[in-house]
Amino acid sequence: MGKEKYILGYDIGGTKIGIGLATASGQLLGKKRVENKDTDPDVILPLLAQMGKELAEEKNLKVSDLAGFGISAPGPADIPNGILLDPPNNKKWHNVPIQGYLQNALQIPGCFENDANSAALAEWFFGAGKGKTDFIYLTMSTGIGAGIVAGNTLIRGKTFFGGEFGHTPIEMNSERVCGCGHKGCYEAYCGGRSIALYLQNLLKDKKDHPIVQFAGGKVEDIDMLALEKAVRANDPLALEIWEEMSMRNAQAFGILLNTFNPERLILGTLAWAVGDLYTDPIKKYLPRFAWKEMIDACEIVSSELRRDVGYYAGVAAAMYFLLGKRAE
Ligand SMILES: [Zn+2]
Repeated sequence: MGKEKYILGYDIGGTKIGIGLATASGQLLGKKRVENKDTDPDVILPLLAQMGKELAEEKNLKVSDLAGFGISAPGPADIPNGILLDPPNNKKWHNVPIQGYLQNALQIPGCFENDANSAALAEWFFGAGKGKTDFIYLTMSTGIGAGIVAGNTLIRGKTFFGGEFGHTPIEMNSERVCGCGHKGCYEAYCGGRSIALYLQNLLKDKKDHPIVQFAGGKVEDIDMLALEKAVRANDPLALEIWEEMSMRNAQAFGILLNTFNPERLILGTLAWAVGDLYTDPIKKYLPRFAWKEMIDACEIVSSELRRDVGYYAGVAAAMYFLLGKRAE
């Protein structure tokens, strides 16, 4: 029996940073949180190292006892060098070499991976992907990202951009502009932020519309929750938008199923927050876009880690990249 290994995981978010200490068998021993709104990296980086040390000390461990740390990071990033380039929600963060900094400060090995891939690894080792060799995790949040595990391997691609499935164009002559600057991306149709912006634009002169009312009467506050409420209240426009979103999700899932033949699609935020209202219509439309053989082979499920996925994401990245962990 090998000695239990301990790992630190850092989850870098635009408004908060989560830090988790876990065992390689998946027990979360402790977690901390750092507010990250309008922060300066010169202040935050030493704090991240210090909190990692404190988490270890609270469990009577020395940092040198830890097998390493993993960082789950938002784009855009220089993945192989562990550098955050220009995270959109953190204006003072430019070219921050976070992995190198923490390696120096903690004197243990580290690794760095994008957040969707790290979340997929977290579900793989600790959640809905356990024991699977072929599955895909989709973030389904304000944006859409994928973590693709095929043949027991995370698909990173030649230059580490693998999994940017939200930016696959799904409509040729689309006027839907995506956050990435292209038109017709999957995310432009189904990402929470894109749908909210689309509705805000559509309803800007219709303050009495039920969708606006569900957003507290403010057009600029329309979000997925307001849309969901309007769907549950059978508002015709909300139902129409929901149908289109479901159809587009089914189209995108069909591409994934027929390309990768996964045994599971694991869906993040919107799927578990909304429930069957979100997934049932997608399943209804899926046979239009994927072969029966692919649908029969694939279970569509929600994330098991849900809100905690971030605390496990960096830990899982370290298990995969530093300890060589795979499905057993
Ligand atoms: Zn895009």
